[in-house]
Order: sequence, then structure tokens, then C-alpha cells
Amino acid sequence: MKKAKGYGRMVTDVVCPFCGTLCDDLEVVVEDNKIKNVRHACRIGSSKFLAMNELKRPNRPMIRKDGSFEEVDMAAAIEECGRILSRSKRPLLYGWSSTGCEAHFVGIELAEELGGVIDSTSSVCHGPSVIAIQDVGYPSATLGDVKNRADLIIYWGANPMHAHPRHLSRYSVFPRGYFRERGQQDRELIVVDVRKTDTAKLANRFVQVRYGEDFELLSALRLVINGKELEADEVAGVSKEDILELADRMKTCQYGTLFFGMGLTQSYGTHRNIDAGISLVRDLNHHTKFSIVAMRGHYNVTGIGEVLTWQTGYPFAVDFSRGYPRYNPGETTANDVLQREEADAALIIASDPVAHFPKKAVEHLARIPMITIGPHMIPTAQLSEVFIPSSISGIEEASTAYRMDTVPLKLRKVIEPPEGIYSDVEILEMILENVRERRVRQMEREKKAGEGR
Ligand code: SF4
Repeated sequence: MKKAKGYGRMVTDVVCPFCGTLCDDLEVVVEDNKIKNVRHACRIGSSKFLAMNELKRPNRPMIRKDGSFEEVDMAAAIEECGRILSRSKRPLLYGWSSTGCEAHFVGIELAEELGGVIDSTSSVCHGPSVIAIQDVGYPSATLGDVKNRADLIIYWGANPMHAHPRHLSRYSVFPRGYFRERGQQDRELIVVDVRKTDTAKLANRFVQVRYGEDFELLSALRLVINGKELEADEVAGVSKEDILELADRMKTCQYGTLFFGMGLTQSYGTHRNIDAGISLVRDLNHHTKFSIVAMRGHYNVTGIGEVLTWQTGYPFAVDFSRGYPRYNPGETTANDVLQREEADAALIIASDPVAHFPKKAVEHLARIPMITIGPHMIPTAQLSEVFIPSSISGIEEASTAYRMDTVPLKLRKVIEPPEGIYSDVEILEMILENVRERRVRQMEREKKAGEGR
């Protein structure tokens, strides 16, 4: 931390808690606990920091009484959370992608204590990638490897110019690397997508695939790369000539990386598309060096997958209802649990399912008692029984997050949270303690009742 020129103090090496790129070179100027300036961040990242000064955030917990919210103290809110969760037979604990790994630890403990289902936003974004990785492995690399070595970059079904704006300038296309001293001039960019996105406009070559036919194109490329004859004149809207050229370029590069996004995970084929993408990269490694990296969205969606995997053996959609962790995407994923109307209570943290889930799942969420923890009064919070405002991890609290290439980074605290606002970790710990105390009291009551018989 050093003195900023002119005013305030400057916090250096700040990690941006917005997207999975986790840029770690930000400099934030702070004066009187207010963020005055942010250097090096993209517009999305800067606005997350600078908006802190203007945001009108709720600063007290709220409980719904007779249909409308009433402000309460933290003890009353925690008591209500404990009551809702302890009564529940199948609680759903969902979200986790925009908070630190320290909160994940406690959340998993709480899910186990309750015998609930814990799931992250992975189940509606890169869940298919995780399933494919379990099926066929993951010949991946760090973003540092890509920066220093790659001469061929492919974005497939991803538009980082909008979703991860500094990805190209920090890691893939523009930076100078150890073996790529001239930066962009030493690299080629290929974009495969259903439409000409802003990333595609920058590309040396744009390949327009017909919507929902990525699997076919990936399979055709594999066929050619494995030395077989492609009989069709076109596949997925791409001519045979273009497929042969693309395959040749991939085989003859020195080091290639395939970045893939939700255009691949959430179109027809889902995890089979990723199977095919990973298998293509595996095939290419018989000819050259190639790696594959998922373009993860929320800044710590990779982190919840990592922490869940250490602790339970499974990366998302973990069900503790049988007393041990069970995982069956399609059955134990949040949307399925809600659409089958199984969940009878929900704790939502660091995400907004009411704004993003299908209507049937949201209708069920609206019928069951819901607790929302987060900094803002989002649509999910507005439908909740209890809302507890929390501090913003990575700005008001230090924490740990995993970048999209599974490299863990320490997020810095830049300013103090508003008075009376607790961190996600502290709130979850209080709820966990309350649930445990209730369980002990219940056991004592049952024991007494048994002795009296
Ligand atoms: S690219 Fe992502 S992590 Fe980097 S500054 Fe922009 S929003 Fe933040």
C-alpha cells in the first residue's frame, strides 16, 4: 500500500472480483474509506469498485412480517434462519460463485449438518464442462503458459470482448510472452461462433458454425486431424475446404489453446460438445502442443468447484440427504430439485436465481421460505423471508478465489464495509452455530422424553 499522487492512499496488486480472469494488477486509490479511482481494470471491473460510492445498500437484516420486510437486528435474523433451516427436510443451498472460498468451507459444513443439497451456478453454466472433464480428462494449461507460449488462440462459443474484456490483452492475443516477444504479431486468433461477435471482428479467421451443430464440426475436425477422409462437402455450415484449412492450421501451430464458453456448454449437445472439444485437443497433441481452458464467468465459480471437490469428492450439485455426499446432475442440480418441488427451504448466497432460473423453478422458490445473503436487494432477496446484507468479498473483505485456470489468488481488502455489515463467512458461521445449538437442544428434549417413558 502506498501514498497515491495528490490524494488518498493507493492499494496495489488488487485482484478484480468480477469475472473468472481475476486480473491481479489493479491499483485502487482510496480516500476516507471511499474508492476514488481504479487503474488497469476494464470498464466492468472498474464499475464494480466505483459503484461502491453510489450504491444505496441495505445495512440491516430484514425479516418478512405480514407480507412486507421489517428491519431486525442480526441476532433475530440468525434465529429466523436457524428456525427455517432446522425445520426443513430438504433445504437447497445455492449460489456461491461470487464469494470467497472461506465462505464455501462453512457453507459445505452447513449443508452437511442440514442434510441438504448444495449447488453452485456451475449447474447452469459450465456444469457440462465439469461432466465432460470427468469423462475424458482435461489437457489444460495456466493462462501464464498461454501468454508465454501460444501462437494459435481459438475462442469457441465465447465472446471475451464482452464477458472477460482483459482476457485478450493480459493472457491470450496481445501480450508479449517469453516465446512470443512480438505479442499479437506472433499469434493468430481464430473465433468459432454462431454469429460475428466483437471478438470475431478482431480475429484473423472467423468460422461461422450453424447453431446447435458444434459437435458435428468438432467431430469433422477430429476426423481430418486423425488422417481420415471427410466425405461431406460441408459440415455445420462450414465448407470442406475451410475445415481442411482449419485442421491444418491447428496441427501445424507450435502451441495452440482452445478457449471455450457457454456457446458450447449450453447449446445442443452440452457436455458431449465439451467431450468432443477435449478429445480434439487430445488428438492434436499427437501432432503439436495444444491445451484447452474453460472461460469461467463468475469470479469464483471455479473456487466453489474446487472446494466442493476437496471436501466431498464432487464439484457441484452435492446432496447430503443420505448422510453422505451424493452427486447426480439432472437429479441433484438446483433447477431439478426446484422444478420437482422437492426443496422445502432455500439459502441463496452470492447469486440471483430468481432473475435467471426458469419460471417453474422461480415459482417454487417463491412458495418456500427463502434466505438470501448478499450485498444488494436483488430480485431473489425481494422474494425471501429473510435477507441479510453482507460485505463485498474482494473489496470489503480479503478472501481467496480461483481463476478460470484453477490458479488460486488472494483477494485484497480495499475499504472497510459499512458499519454493522458482516462478511459472508461470519453470517454463515452464525447460522451454522444456531443450527447446531438447535440440534443439541432437540436431542436433549428427545432424550428426556425417552427417559420419562
Ligand atoms: S477482465 Fe474481468 S477480472 Fe479483469 S478487470 Fe475486467 S472484469 Fe475484472
